[in-house]
Formats: sequence, C-alpha cells, structure tokens
Amino acid sequence: MNSFLISKYKDVEPYVPGEQPRDKKYIKLNTNESPYPPSEAVIKAVKDSAKSLQLYPDPACRDLKAALAESLKLKPENILPTNGSDEVLSLSFMAYAHDEKPAYYPDVTYGFYDVLSGLFGVKANHFALEDDFTVDIEKYCGLDSGLIVIANPNAPTGIAISVDKIERICKESPDCIVLIDEAYVEFGAESCVGLVKQYPNLIVSRTYSKSMSLAGARLGYAIANENRIIELETLKYTLNPYSVNRSALVAGCAAIEDMQYYKNNCQLVSETRDRTAEKLKSLGFELTDSKTNFVFCRHPGIPAGVLSDELRKAGILVRHFTSERTNDWLRISIGTPEDMCALTDALEKILNGGCI
Ligand code: PMP
Repeated sequence: MNSFLISKYKDVEPYVPGEQPRDKKYIKLNTNESPYPPSEAVIKAVKDSAKSLQLYPDPACRDLKAALAESLKLKPENILPTNGSDEVLSLSFMAYAHDEKPAYYPDVTYGFYDVLSGLFGVKANHFALEDDFTVDIEKYCGLDSGLIVIANPNAPTGIAISVDKIERICKESPDCIVLIDEAYVEFGAESCVGLVKQYPNLIVSRTYSKSMSLAGARLGYAIANENRIIELETLKYTLNPYSVNRSALVAGCAAIEDMQYYKNNCQLVSETRDRTAEKLKSLGFELTDSKTNFVFCRHPGIPAGVLSDELRKAGILVRHFTSERTNDWLRISIGTPEDMCALTDALEKILNGGCI
C-alpha cells in the first residue's frame, strides 16, 4: 500500500499498550491500574460534569492547579495539568531534546521514552542499569546538555532511588533538564517534589492513573519552576489547548478532597504487594525490591513467556516485555488480595503440574 505519511514519520515505532481484552473477563494484572474504584465524591463530580459537556473545559485548568498547589504546598504557577502524565513526557521531549540535545535514560525503563525519542528525532543515550537493575547515578552527573529522564521508581523494575541521589543529578548536571517520572511514587518511594523550589532544571511528572484510580480519565501533571511550566504550557497551547477535559478536571479536584481514601488504597496495594512477593519467593521466584503497584519477577524453572501464556489460559493477564534484558521477567500488577491469591494459586498449579 502506498503511504501518504511524510518521510520523517515513516520509521516511528509506536508504543504498544498492555492489552485491554474484550473477549472475556480476565483478572487484569497487565497495565498497573488500581483495583479500586474512584471515591464516591469523584464519581458524583464526574456525573455532574456531564451537564456542562457542551462547554469547552478551562484551558488554564485554574481550579485544579490551585487545588494541587495547595496540597503540594507550592504555587499554581508550579503546576501544569495534562492529559495523563504521558503528555508531560511528550511536552518535555518536545521542549528540551532534539538531535543536538540528547536524551539520557536507562536501558531498561518505560518504553514510551524511546517512542518519543523516535517521534521527535532525539538522540537517545541508553545508560545500562547495573546487573541488579539499580541505577548508577554517576552516569547522569556531569552531563552538559539535554534531557535526563528517570522513572522513580523505575518501570518495569519497580526499584526506587533516594531523593538525595536525584538532587545530586540536578546539581551536577545543571544545564540539563532532569525529568523525574513519579508515576508510581505513592506506593513506597520518596518524592522529589520538595526539590522543585531549589532546582529550576527539575521537572516532576505525576499521574492520577495509578494511586488515584483514574487511568480512564487521563489526568496527570507536571510540577516545576514557573519558567519551565510556562515553556511546557506554551507547547500545550500550541498542540492541544483543551487536552484536559471537563470531567477529568472536576475528578482531579474531587479526588484531592478524598485523599485519605486514596492513601488507604495505596497502603492496601503496598501491603498486598509485599504479601504477594513473599508468596512468590516461596514458589521459587526471584524478585526486585518493588516500591510500586507491581512486582517484577522471574522463575529459574519456567520461561516467562510460558508462564504468561499459561496464566492467560487461567484467565489472568500479566505483562512480559521481550527485550533482551527483560525477557526472563514478568511484570505483575497488584490487584485485590483475592486477585493475587488467584494469581499465586494459578502459578502454583503451573509450577507443579506443568500446564493448567
Ligand atoms: N510513566 C510510567 C513509568 C508509566 O509506567 C506510565 C504508565 N504506562 C506512565 C508514565 C504514563 O501514565 P499516564 O499517562 O496514564 O499518566
């Protein structure tokens, strides 16, 4: 088939999202969604917002900026609400990297960074994680220009680094933008939002998708020095001024009012993760020290691809990334305690009997 696509996009590699199946009901442990619904107040706010959907949303997202700023003890000028945190990532790649300003990120991390490098023609430097998947932060210190991107905790490894290490990167690569992707920070890692006032080169990306049970609403935000927010916001207005819709805006504000509900859910997910990790270890799995709402594990006896296929037959979806360094591993999202019992029961059967 002839392509009408202009040449610079001919070779772009799109992101491959985790499967959202429609053939039957699965226990979905493949896309790191929350197993818990939004709070009642959020559901009500979204229902009420339907009455005004004939109107465009506030492109400046003023109410949500104010609510987030208050909860983070910052100014509204330090916040940019976005269409999922993926939009913070896109805007940052667009704003701060190109062929002469490279991007630097780990070789094993969120696949969207490579997709964005491809889209924006950015030279990507993949710094290898250590054998145990930890980040050697020395590699990110002393760089002289471009965009450093670190997911903290990292995905799919789940491993977190401490705020003092991130501070060193900001301090020792002062002419680089340091983008810290905190999509999973609420499940046990330390946030570096407190560094934003001090480091104008730091951008923190956050999402409502995981800890706040709103993956379907597509809501995220950037936190940064006001000048960085102006730069990102200018690009947002250039590309899609109304990228955050009315329902997402009110949901975001209502969720902040119900923070205790979400904190309890995150606590529950973290406890379920730790119990699941113990059970998996007892079944012979090796695991990283995850501070997220997923575990990353491998079994010495059975290839990850086989485990993933067998789990699917048992009605459970998990994620298997087939790149060289991740091919032995499975990323398993944390569901309800019942979901995780179903998972470990199914794995026990697979390990004992071969197949389900
Ligand atoms: N960062 C990381 C590390 C992620 O795993 C994800 C989710 N796939 C995102 C960012 C994007 O999340 P969202 O756009 O739903 O906020």
